[in-house]
Amino acid sequence: MEPLTEKQIRSSFVNCTKGEAARLRLPLDFTDLPWEELDFLGWVDPGAPLRAHLVVPRAEGPLGISLRVPSVGRTSAVKSSLCQICLTGHASSGVTLLAAPLAGARGREGNTVGIYVCADLACPLYVRGKRQPKLRAGRYEESLTLDERLTRMSDNLDAFVNRVAAA
Ligand SMILES: [Zn+2]
Repeated sequence: MEPLTEKQIRSSFVNCTKGEAARLRLPLDFTDLPWEELDFLGWVDPGAPLRAHLVVPRAEGPLGISLRVPSVGRTSAVKSSLCQICLTGHASSGVTLLAAPLAGARGREGNTVGIYVCADLACPLYVRGKRQPKLRAGRYEESLTLDERLTRMSDNLDAFVNRVAAA
């Protein structure tokens, strides 16, 4: 993706308040990100470890989604060790269930969309083999090419983003 400025990132969020977007913390390595290997930017908020953010490049400009670790009482009993965006398999702690408030009024009423993702939200780096899961959950062979896996990742991400943003 094309490198983004802090201003572009903060103004891209569709499912949090302007105040929240102004207060969120950028990745610690923001000045040093491997943009050419990122299909989207995802990170855990360094100032709030129960929050994470995604910024996805789209034709109309970057689109930001804010996510949080759901409160324990609402966590589903079914636990996945597979990231639903990039399909990387991890040992259980490598995948986190996050919930994104829906954009607009439905989000303000508490409606969210949940997704299991790589806990560090570094899906593009896993798909490219630049980062390895600490513990791989089983071994599962991929027959797809890198391009096919990147396309699949983008499709999964788009489907999620569309559900959140379609208010
Ligand atoms: Zn992933």
